[in-house]
Amino acid sequence: MIPNLIGSRWQEPDSGVSTLPVFNPATGEVIDQVPLSGSTEVGAAVTAAAEAFTRWSRTSVMERVRLMFAYKAILEQHVEDLAAIITRHHGKTLDEARGEVRRGIEVVDFACGAPTLLQGRTLRDVSAGVDQDLYRYPVGVCAGIPPFNFPVMIPLWMFPLAVVAGNTYVLKPSERTPLGAVRLAELFLQAGFPEGVLNVVHGAHDAVDALLVHPEVRAISFVGSEPVARHVYTTAAAHGKRVQALGGAKNHMVVMPDADPEIAVPAILNSAFGNAGERCLSGSVAVVVGRAAGSLIDPLKLGAQSLKVGPGDEQGVQVGPLIRAEHRDRVAGYVDKGVAEGARLLVDGRAEMSRPGFFLGPTVLDHVTGDMSVGREEIFGPVLSVSRAATLDEAIEQANSMALGNMATIFTQSGRAAREFRERVDAGMTGINVPVAQPFAFFPFSGWKRSFYGDLHVHGTDGIEFFTRKKVVVTRW
Ligand code: NAD
Repeated sequence: MIPNLIGSRWQEPDSGVSTLPVFNPATGEVIDQVPLSGSTEVGAAVTAAAEAFTRWSRTSVMERVRLMFAYKAILEQHVEDLAAIITRHHGKTLDEARGEVRRGIEVVDFACGAPTLLQGRTLRDVSAGVDQDLYRYPVGVCAGIPPFNFPVMIPLWMFPLAVVAGNTYVLKPSERTPLGAVRLAELFLQAGFPEGVLNVVHGAHDAVDALLVHPEVRAISFVGSEPVARHVYTTAAAHGKRVQALGGAKNHMVVMPDADPEIAVPAILNSAFGNAGERCLSGSVAVVVGRAAGSLIDPLKLGAQSLKVGPGDEQGVQVGPLIRAEHRDRVAGYVDKGVAEGARLLVDGRAEMSRPGFFLGPTVLDHVTGDMSVGREEIFGPVLSVSRAATLDEAIEQANSMALGNMATIFTQSGRAAREFRERVDAGMTGINVPVAQPFAFFPFSGWKRSFYGDLHVHGTDGIEFFTRKKVVVTRW
């Protein structure tokens, strides 16, 4: 059984706690068991974090940063190790896993800038003989609840910034991909962070609900599906906590008639089928404007058919398995629904379902509209919908009619069309001629609409604001 980390001790929960299997999605084999911890284990982890907070919050910024630099160096030495763990229990290709680790380490790089990032501000002589100074303080015990699809990167969006700001942490990894967080925590201890600064409790909704109502937890970072993001936001806020809750996505990729197909086609394939479509920044709907359809549909079809499907650790594989058989079946169910609702099936990846493991090949549906379930709902798998629009206005309207607003991207050679799109599309992460508009660690991960509940996004200076509270001191001598 995978142990929890409470204080500096790895310990299995009591025998009464049930477990779930962890799979290798490329083979369907069970590789471990994850405990479904409850309020007892969560309580122990929060107590360990609360005890550590007293000392850690008063440890100097330079000492916290020294440890963060040590962690960064250790992570750099373990990129291959972490990538192999990701591929083994998530399924994505090794190249995708390496990319994930790199993007995660970038947040640690950003956290190493704490001596600048944590500065306050000051105004002398605000009135005669009176000065005002703003200081930043940590908020206390913070907790993070990541999804399954980035087992290393998303935990790294959360705890490094929190702890460098002087907070202590309880991480509740995804029960479907818990092993990345375990390795991150081992390396964290190896870097020399004191006992209790980072704790790891495995589990599912019971562990989450225990964190949301625990009086000692001051801040919750969540990333996952929209309904759970809403639940986490409303429950944790009702219990007086600050919350950043990132939800699902239904991202549109607009292709203008002047777009260069040599750029747009590979970008759309990468966006839709990278990570087997299990990304909150995956392009889900390609909106082809006017005559763009003529130069796009056939190459998209050929491109999707030629992607190599297989185990993520096999040379040359471009599309790995989905996370679980049930999820694969749910995604395949969308293909049936799309066809029943009137979409045209251009590429059918369902033949790959006969392999061992949880595979579904790249699938393309054409003539999708916003009133079809495939045009409206998050699918989270390798299914690309293609819709048609007569004008840019119509394409923007299609994107903006979605309840979710995570990412949108446009392919065009027209600065005017690109600017119009940037100004009017309701998506917090907007791309121009890029497949995946992922902000670097020093910008916020900025979902809009129901893709985000809260005020301050993860990482960037929003992250620093989220993990600190401000004190203003007014002084007269
Ligand atoms: P999920 O919502 O099922 O699970 C996320 C976390 O919530 C897990 O740790 C899980 O244990 C917990 N959880 C699940 N159900 C719960 C419940 N009823 N009550 C309390 N906690 C619960 O999400 P997932 O399937 O792991 O991840 C995929 C989803 O995450 C997709 O919708 C995707 O778009 C989204 N996502 C969003 C972003 C973003 O930045 N907006 C990034 C990655 C993934």
